[in-house]
Parts: sequence; structure tokens; C-alpha cells
Amino acid sequence: MHMKRAFYIGRFQPFHLGHYSTICTIAKEVDEVVIGIGSAQKSHDPENPFTAGERVMMIKHALEDADVKHYAIPIEDLQRNAVWVSHIVSMAPPFDVVYSNNPLVIQLFKESNMNVRQPPMFNRKGYSGTEIRKKMLEGDEWRELVPVAVADVIDEIDGVTRLRNVSSKDME
Ligand code: ATP
Ligand code: MG
Repeated sequence: MHMKRAFYIGRFQPFHLGHYSTICTIAKEVDEVVIGIGSAQKSHDPENPFTAGERVMMIKHALEDADVKHYAIPIEDLQRNAVWVSHIVSMAPPFDVVYSNNPLVIQLFKESNMNVRQPPMFNRKGYSGTEIRKKMLEGDEWRELVPVAVADVIDEIDGVTRLRNVSSKDME
């Protein structure tokens, strides 16, 4: 029996309800979802506060609760777009279809003759990594924008304090 697998990639800084809703939608159309964690080597900076392992935890716990069969695979940046699809294929379990709304991701997979689908967007203004990191820095309410399991991981690692510290300037 051939399992149908989808591929979906993001940086997930953090994994929010837009990502979660998209993956739940994809999971209705395939047997398993392969989730690429992009810029996996980055952490402890204002745009990328969380490590690959912490992002694996966020995704695992959030999707466990939703019963979505998945594999989260950290993928480091390769500063060479022309061979990026091969880089992904060399790291990920085999997949049949790619879901993305990112124009570069779509372009690169289509050039490799992969089947690409565009998933719906969910509340893109609120469910946005940039917005959530901004709210964390400003002390605004961010928990309602992420799965409960993700808020628990961020609390466990004291993620908001880390984000504030790595976003602040040197002191005299
Ligand atoms: P950042 O602001 O840090 O770039 P982001 O919210 O765009 O964060 P990414 O990790 O960059 O999150 O997103 C991965 C993929 O998820 C992107 O291709 C993006 O199109 C998609 N995505 C982001 N937000 C939503 C949403 N609200 N609904 C559906 N898809 C989304
Ligand atoms: Mg983005």
C-alpha cells in the first residue's frame, strides 16, 4: 500500500494557529504530513528565537492533540536556491505533494516537476509569527494565537524572556 505524504515548510518561530489549521486541512487530503522546519540552524535571535529542537517539541505536542500523523524534519538553510529542492529531498521522508503559499517555494518545487497545492490562509493578520513575536516583546496577549501545547513549551523554556534578552541592546 502506498501512503500518500504531503510536504509543508515554515520557520515556525513560533508554530501558531495558522500553521496548525493549515496542517489539519492538509491532513484530511493525505495519510501523513512531512513538516520541514526551515532555518533550522538559527536560534536566539529576534526573528528566530527558538531552536530546531524546541520547534520540534511545539509541533509534536500540538499535533499529538489533533491526532495528525506527521514527521517534523529540521532543514538548515542552503544559500543556493537552485539546488534547494534536492537538499530537502535528501533530508525528508518521501512525499508526493507540496503545500505552500510562498512564491519562491512554489517556483522551486514546480521547476522540479513536483505537484504543488496552495492551502487556504487562516486569519493571516493575527496568526503571524512576526505579530506574535511583537506581542511577546510588548507584553501583549499572544497565547490565544498559538495552540495551548505551544504556549506550554514556550513557558517551559522561558521563551519570552529569551526573546526580550536577545532583542535588547548592549548595556554601558
Ligand atoms: P514570520 O512572520 O516569522 O515569517 P509566519 O507567520 O509567516 O512567520 P512562517 O514560519 O514564515 O510563519 O510560515 C510558514 C508558512 O506558513 C508560510 O509559507 C506561510 O505562507 C504559512 N502561513 C503563515 N501564516 C499563516 C496563516 N495564518 N494561515 C495559513 N498559512 C500561514
Ligand atoms: Mg513568513
